[in-house]
Amino acid sequence: MSKAESKAPKATEIRAIKGTRDLVAPEVLLFQEVEAQAREVFRRYGFEEIRTPILEPTELFARAVGEETDIVGKEMFTFLDRDERPICLRPEATASVARAYVEHRLWERPGTTKLYYQGPMFRRERPQKGRYRQFSQIGAEVLGSGLPQVDYELLEMLWTLLRACGLGDAELLLNSIGCEADRRRYTEALRAALRPDIERMCADCRRRYERNPLRVLDCKVEADQPIIAALPTMLDYLDEPCRAHFSAVRTMLDEQGLPYRLAPRLVRGLDYYRRTAFEFVHGALGAQNALLGGGRYDGLAQALGAPAQYSEGIGFALGEDRFVIAMQAAGRASPPRGIAAYIAALGPELLPRALRLARELREAGLAVEVGDAQRKLARQLELAARTGARSAVILGPDEVAREEATLRELGTGNQRAVALAALAGELAQPAKAKP
Ligand code: AMP
Repeated sequence: MSKAESKAPKATEIRAIKGTRDLVAPEVLLFQEVEAQAREVFRRYGFEEIRTPILEPTELFARAVGEETDIVGKEMFTFLDRDERPICLRPEATASVARAYVEHRLWERPGTTKLYYQGPMFRRERPQKGRYRQFSQIGAEVLGSGLPQVDYELLEMLWTLLRACGLGDAELLLNSIGCEADRRRYTEALRAALRPDIERMCADCRRRYERNPLRVLDCKVEADQPIIAALPTMLDYLDEPCRAHFSAVRTMLDEQGLPYRLAPRLVRGLDYYRRTAFEFVHGALGAQNALLGGGRYDGLAQALGAPAQYSEGIGFALGEDRFVIAMQAAGRASPPRGIAAYIAALGPELLPRALRLARELREAGLAVEVGDAQRKLARQLELAARTGARSAVILGPDEVAREEATLRELGTGNQRAVALAALAGELAQPAKAKP
């Protein structure tokens, strides 16, 4: 730092809130790509977009996600609004979609309700790589059908999306967590199996043992793992309808050749899950290895006021931030900025012509930058190269008088005269020639 700089009074720097991030290129371009791929794949599977508010009544998540979950119990950004009502920044969006489904009686529309969303979620977790307090999710929900085929098609859609993003090497972990009755029996079995060892386990597990023994299966403490590995699994406690449902989903995956690994200890973080539960994990992610997670939540919509016959549902949410980390690790390059031309006018009197040309080219669909016409040509060409533009369009007084410009390829330095009227066509060609 120079002396002059160190003496200058320093403005207090305002920084982004812990666990939140600013996303700029090249990273943001990969976010855009995930979103574009998701929209395209979801369209083919008949999903329509829903946009729900980021602010929701706190009670929605307490009721739909469950007071005992980490998300609601510890991680929500919740506060009293000026009218003293508790509102929060949504920690997830399945509850919001289910609320909207009930609020607008969406089941009255023809066909199964298939909705997708994209947007920021907020959880006050301890930030680390792949875990933020504001992060982006893309998710989809199918409401009003309990068919195993729906579970299968959702998983197939996810495989398609992952492959489109270059993440076909992800792994699908699949489990069934049964219905409420199955889980009650399983919970009792877990308590019984844990009883002799619970005093040796971590403090979290001791608390979970009392409140929700299923959560013990989520424990990451090394010393507890041998005890957890020996616990009974949910799959042994499924009743006949749940067993048949799970077996039908697995048969379809096998028939269609889509890979998965049975993960009998996979329990999802939200209380409303029933039957099929799944996660896609990826090796490039490290500790936070879940790219996405989801499952069936029959009964959630009913808990929020839908008639029982319309309250079956299944969905997933994917973490865009983690998709981008995995895509970067897989060497997926961000698409280039794709500026077709940098217009270098030689003198301020030519600026109006340069601006008009830029506008015409932009109307023709080309990305164009206009240089500072007061600068020398050499300097403008340097700046042009730094923007990554493919070509420079040089406007000098003589050329403009002839309704021409010099088109210079910045990669090779080759240049030639082109009629202004023909420029849009000439500039579009290299882009078209690209695969
Ligand atoms: P969940 O809503 O907890 O089932 O999470 C679904 C997906 O969202 C996860 O698999 C992650 O990819 C992503 N996710 C969840 N929490 C975070 C977080 N704090 N930061 C970044 N991504 C997250």
